[in-house]
Amino acid sequence: MSREKIIFAEFLFKNILPAVEEAIYNQIKLLIINIMKCNNPALSGNRCNLENHILRHLAIQEEFKSYTEYIDNPKLYFQSFIGEHVETFCKDYRKLQDMFHGNLEEIKFRILRICTEVSEEVNLKNGNASMWLDHFCTKLGDHMVINRQSLTSIQDEDIRNTKFLKDMMAKYLEEVVKSENMEKVDTSSQHLCLLKEKITEILFKQLEGCWAQCPFCNAICTNTMSNHTDDHRVQFHRSSAIGKVPYHKTDEFTIDFCTTNVSSDGSFIILPYKKRIPYKSYRDGGDPYDKWSITADGSTQGYWKWFVCRFQKEWEHRCELKFKGKGVIPDSWRKITKESIYNYHLSWGKKV
Ligand SMILES: [Zn+2]
Ligand SMILES: [Zn+2]
Repeated sequence: MSREKIIFAEFLFKNILPAVEEAIYNQIKLLIINIMKCNNPALSGNRCNLENHILRHLAIQEEFKSYTEYIDNPKLYFQSFIGEHVETFCKDYRKLQDMFHGNLEEIKFRILRICTEVSEEVNLKNGNASMWLDHFCTKLGDHMVINRQSLTSIQDEDIRNTKFLKDMMAKYLEEVVKSENMEKVDTSSQHLCLLKEKITEILFKQLEGCWAQCPFCNAICTNTMSNHTDDHRVQFHRSSAIGKVPYHKTDEFTIDFCTTNVSSDGSFIILPYKKRIPYKSYRDGGDPYDKWSITADGSTQGYWKWFVCRFQKEWEHRCELKFKGKGVIPDSWRKITKESIYNYHLSWGKKV
């Protein structure tokens, strides 16, 4: 084989290699996202379903620090929760390697098929290297982005018999299968780190919804659209103690749930002007209160009652408020067991 032909093939391959790798990583990325969304119950529904899994996970873990991370910065907590699941999935290097090899094989056959097709077309038209490269880049372009510009230096080569290209291409692609980026899928792989980051980012974006939080209890709006125009709503409000709301001019927590508060005769104070608003007309408080629809159905869940009993001291210390006076924890709350709140999701929807 002539030296020109070898240079041509080498140059061509060197230039399409990054696109080949990118195509493989893109396919793997989508594949992992699909598998995770199908097989991981936390990721197979909407944000509301994910949050239920997070609450369950927090209860099982039973660590105050994790709870504060979730309560203080839910967005960040959701992201790292998804990140941990991606991490776990990607720890199975054997499975990942099989995925990479499978994809590379697929791409290899595609490129070789295109090589043959293009060679036949160009030979029929008695075309030159430039025509061959044009056709090759166009056909491959449906699957990966090839920069035709970068190939101009070889387009004037005299390569009438283009059949050799397929053989050379096959040889090079075989080498990629064994190359470091594809073979060495382990913790030190930069490619894998980037891949995990990207997957986490995409899953988070897909599962993201509205992040508005109830002005009383901090529960996160359950609307799946981030910019919805109708009122914010939540599936379950929490005890106002989670929203760190004290009784006016005291260090006593308010512990009632929003669903009870909004039908009560009580009122709340808006700082800094100390404007007093009756709970029954909480929307008069203006933004953000008038953007929320809180149903006065009196529903409460055992989950947050269990939380304040379990972490009473820690929560008091953190908020510099006390569960005393009007905010004393009812005895009935202390009877709620951890098992009863996480054994099955549906229990969260029932009155406890
Ligand atoms: Zn609320
Ligand atoms: Zn909302």
